[in-house]
Amino acid sequence: MKDAVGKVYLVGAGPGDPSLLTLRGKDILERAQVVIYDSLVNESLLRHAPDAEHIFVGKRPDRHSLTQEDINRLLIEQAKLADCVVRLKGGDPFVFGRGGEEAAALADAGVSFEIVPGVTAGLGATAYAGIPLTHRGASDRVTFIAGHARADFDDLPNRGTLVLYMGVDKLAANMRALAAAGRTPDTPVAVVEWGTLPRQRCLVGTIQNIANRCAENEIEAPAIIVVGEVVNLRESLSWFEQRPLFGTKVAVTRTQERAATLVQLLREQGADVFEFPTVAIETPPPQTPPVRVSGYDWIILTSINGVDTLFEQMAASGQDARDLHGVMLCAISAKTAEALRDRSIRVDVVPERYETEFVLHELENAAGEIGGKRVLMPRADIGRSSLPKALRGRGAEVDELQAYRTVVPQDMEARAEELMRYAPHYITFGSAASARNFHEILGADRVAQLSEGSRYAAIGPIAAKAAQELGITVQVVPEVHRVPELVNAIVQDRES
Ligand code: SAH
Repeated sequence: MKDAVGKVYLVGAGPGDPSLLTLRGKDILERAQVVIYDSLVNESLLRHAPDAEHIFVGKRPDRHSLTQEDINRLLIEQAKLADCVVRLKGGDPFVFGRGGEEAAALADAGVSFEIVPGVTAGLGATAYAGIPLTHRGASDRVTFIAGHARADFDDLPNRGTLVLYMGVDKLAANMRALAAAGRTPDTPVAVVEWGTLPRQRCLVGTIQNIANRCAENEIEAPAIIVVGEVVNLRESLSWFEQRPLFGTKVAVTRTQERAATLVQLLREQGADVFEFPTVAIETPPPQTPPVRVSGYDWIILTSINGVDTLFEQMAASGQDARDLHGVMLCAISAKTAEALRDRSIRVDVVPERYETEFVLHELENAAGEIGGKRVLMPRADIGRSSLPKALRGRGAEVDELQAYRTVVPQDMEARAEELMRYAPHYITFGSAASARNFHEILGADRVAQLSEGSRYAAIGPIAAKAAQELGITVQVVPEVHRVPELVNAIVQDRES
């Protein structure tokens, strides 16, 4: 137990899109020891606080949920146990979020607190739907209303934009109340469900017909209702739903560490991305005796992991970049070369293609006959094996350094079932290993079932071949085997 009472931060998580969290919110999450969050908070935000305790206090159908008083008490208790307690709330804490009540309870208990505002759903969902809340000539005022307890609309301004929160369950009653309060029945209305998320849906109608339209399309909470002339602007300002991969579900089967750019680029094109880790990386203990890099004529690196391991093992045995003096370096792939450049090391050879004959040719072009040379290859156990064999065939002396091991991650069954329910439009393979492990985790039956509705995209021919060998037909392979080109190829395939 610590002496001083900690601080509670009421942090707005934003409306759904995790990148709408404020920088201050992220800073505080990174320092949090406890995060207390509810249902509308995007759970992916918790990765900013991986080591904190995560306490869910939202409503779930299958269990007893906490009352507001319980939550207030929990906040005070946690402040006695931890220095930095984050109360993460959907949207903004002070907009229909009961943040005021929580702050008041903290103040009463003498617990210090801070408020970090967030993008409220009324702003986030409307922005992503292409509906400006004010617009010259159309609306010069905005009213935010809670629509769950049949609101009394008699005192509402008869002009300007209305934004209703918590109002879809009683949509018909809300619309009748608006008409009764004097709004003309043909006033435009938009309903934005799951705003700012890849599953966003927006329906447009009028006070008179929007309730029916929403019922027909099974629109449910959470949704924001916008009433007023500004809704008409969506026709020309809709952007989020216009992005090339909007509504496209893509499962990315890669190692968690390397998938980041692919996931990010897909999301930028509007895709809904499901991350399915199929490869876990196990770093082997340092080799004994330690590898001595200065004893080699060539070091051939085939992956970023190989670069990382090489430098780790060098450092562990007192070697550094200076020991590479006079050693020729070959990087297979531009990414690997970049990883070396990041360590201020210039690479001598970067072959354009990873084909054994071609690589040998490039090596000999750069430094003459490979026969009799000493070559070090840090590599994975399940990488391609033809290069070391070919080098030995030409008389080179090749040492392979166990750089990392790719293994099938444990406990994937639940995630596999989630993937089946997710029913992706595309499944991507970033390597041969990810294709093989994907098949191993799911099993042939489930793969066959997925293949009925999903198309497969591989970054290059090696990954594609590994998939084909397992009976998976790969439809999309970019001409240039890089992540941005893979994303473009998926966009083109989607459009065709
Ligand atoms: N404090 C929150 C609001 C909580 S009340 C905020 O500032 O946004 C919950 C209501 O917010 C829901 O019933 C719905 O009307 C709205 N809401 C929250 N997230 C939403 C989303 N992603 N899309 C549309 N409406 C949302």
